[in-house]
This record gives sequence, structure tokens and C-alpha cells, in this order.
Amino acid sequence: ASDRPEIVMTGPLMAYAADQLKARFTVHELWNAPDAAALLREVSGRVRGVAAGGGHSHVDAALFDALPKLEIVSSFGVGYDHVDAAEAGRRGLVVTNTPDVLTDEVADLAIGLLLATVRQLPQVDRYLREGKWLKGNYPLTTSLRGRKVGIVGLGRIGKAVAHRLEAFGVPVSYHGRSRQDDVAYRYYPSLVEMAADVDVLISVAPGGASTRHIINAEVLEALGRNGILVNVGRGTVVDEKALIRALQDGTILSAGLDVFEDEPRVPAELIAIEHAVLLPHVGSASVHTREAMGQLLVDNLVSWFDGKGPLTPVSETPWKKA
Ligand code: NDP
Repeated sequence: ASDRPEIVMTGPLMAYAADQLKARFTVHELWNAPDAAALLREVSGRVRGVAAGGGHSHVDAALFDALPKLEIVSSFGVGYDHVDAAEAGRRGLVVTNTPDVLTDEVADLAIGLLLATVRQLPQVDRYLREGKWLKGNYPLTTSLRGRKVGIVGLGRIGKAVAHRLEAFGVPVSYHGRSRQDDVAYRYYPSLVEMAADVDVLISVAPGGASTRHIINAEVLEALGRNGILVNVGRGTVVDEKALIRALQDGTILSAGLDVFEDEPRVPAELIAIEHAVLLPHVGSASVHTREAMGQLLVDNLVSWFDGKGPLTPVSETPWKKA
């Protein structure tokens, strides 16, 4: 029936969201199908929506070709580099993501990761558990005190990080493609110049071709021997090989990473660097925030099929709020 549109889920979603989808739509689980191509052929004349969950399934021209009745792709997460949104836009398809509801959570994590890296919290914890405290105190660590922080990508999350850093009393500057007139932080059109002037780089830039490897050997060299890189944006923003070399040879001091180039595979060379802090992409990964993200994914589909338009279309989507 027309009040029960058919949708495809490309990957698993938490039950909180998946159950709501199943209550409202006829759901086809692509990743569970023994033959995904056969499933797509079977449903191609009927499917009008895609729920793009976690995992690494790509939503691109091939899927759009396979689903000629498609109207909307509702993607889980604020970053949507796994969705070819430009191609969707050219075809008049709506793509939505889940901005804002995760901003504070990811900013909290970025600050936690920064402090964990500067004060070596995972290493200090391991020291106690290994019984080493009984033999003496942990060596003195580096500090956030006296550091300057440069944010790469001062968007929703970047601003929330900057706001928190103000309370920590450290100067903040930023790099992006354009200056933002409504913020007082110093703007650097050149990332290398900012890296040279700060002691901490925090990257919250999105993935995709335009940001690929913008944090490269030259930027790390500029960041310098006392420098710390924190990345909670996307792994592809950093040239990971160059980062590994920079950490091995002391070009920079340390790194706190929540994202990697080829997740969930993290290079053994990186894991071997004891003083780095490595997290398995947990920026938004609390029950509270993942439920809010799942709800927004559902709400975008419900709003669309109720004829009320998408709630949070991405910038590539040709959609103007009425
Ligand atoms: P926004 O779109 O609000 O901010 C993105 C910022 O990046 C903008 O300020 C933009 O500024 C800047 N930017 C975009 N392209 C470039 C470029 N080529 N060079 C330099 N800067 C650039 O997004 P959010 O703040 O909501 O999210 C940011 C990213 O964080 C997401 O795309 C996602 O990849 C990542 N993320 C990671 C999570 C995790 O679990 N670790 C969780 C949530 C998000 P300008 O346009 O001026 O260049």
C-alpha cells in the first residue's frame, strides 16, 4: 500500500532505529541477502528509499541505477563520504545526514582524546594496572598548559571544540576554505602556516576528495617536535604513512586518533607507537547520541514519505525549505 513505502537498508542499524523503520516501512536488508544483486532486481520497481546505516557500504551510481524509483537516501552519521551525494543531487535524489545531534558528543570526545594524549592517560592507567606504581611514580608528562590549538575544519563540531577550549584557557585558531566572519578566532588560509604557529592540531574536517591528505608530511614538519595531532574528523584527511614516519622519527611528539584511513584496519606501525592514543572511531558512540542519530535517520524518511520534505538534507541536495 502507498502508506507503507518500501526501503532498502544497506547495513545494520541499532534496533532502536531498525525497529521503527520496520514498523513504518517494508524493509529489505541488503547486507543480509544471500544474493544482493538478485534482491535489488526483485525490488527495483518498488523501492523508494534507502537507509544507509553504519558499516562501509557505498551508496553510489550503481545503486541509484538499480533502484529507478528511488527518491531519498537517509544516511546515519553527519559525515556522508560513503554516499555519492553529488551524483544523487544530479539525479534529483534527496540525501539526508544526522548533523547537530552528535556535535556535543564528538566535541567532548575530542577534548577527552586531547587530554588523554597530552597527559598520557591510557599509558598511566596501564602503569597502575601493571603494578608499577608500587615501584615508583609515573614519569612526568607533557601538558596542555602553554599550548596553542589550531582547528582544521571549524564547522559545527569544530566550533563546539573551540568553545570548550576557551574554558581551558588555550588560544584557538582555525583553518578552512574560508574565513568565518562571526567568529573571533584567528583564521589561517594556509594550513602549513597555522601548523607552524600552534602546538596542537585538531582535525574535524570531513572526508572526501577535497580534504584528502591535507595533513601531510609538510604540515607535520611545520607542527614540529613538540606538536600533537588529534584527529576526530576522517582518517583520509591525514597522510597516515607520513604521520607514522613523523611519530617514529620525532618530527612530532604524539597523536590522538579516533579515525583511520582504512577502518577498521589500523597499521601495525601505528599500534606499535606506545605514546599515541588510538580509539576505534567512537566519537559519537554513546547510547544517548546514537539513539538521537538513529531517530533523525528515521524522522527524515518519515517526513519525506509524509510529504513534508527532508528534515536535514545535505548541501548537494537540490532542496529549498518551503
Ligand atoms: P560541518 O560541515 O559543520 O563542518 C565541516 C568543516 O570543515 C567546515 O567548517 C568546513 O569549512 C571545513 N572544510 C570542509 N572542506 C574543507 C577543506 N577542503 N579544507 C579545509 N576545511 C574544510 O561538519 P561537522 O562539524 O558536523 O562534522 C565534521 C566532520 O566530523 C564530519 O564530516 C565527519 O567526517 C566527522 N565526524 C566524526 C565523528 C567520529 O565519530 N569521529 C562523528 C561525527 C563527525 P569551510 O567550508 O570553510 O572549508
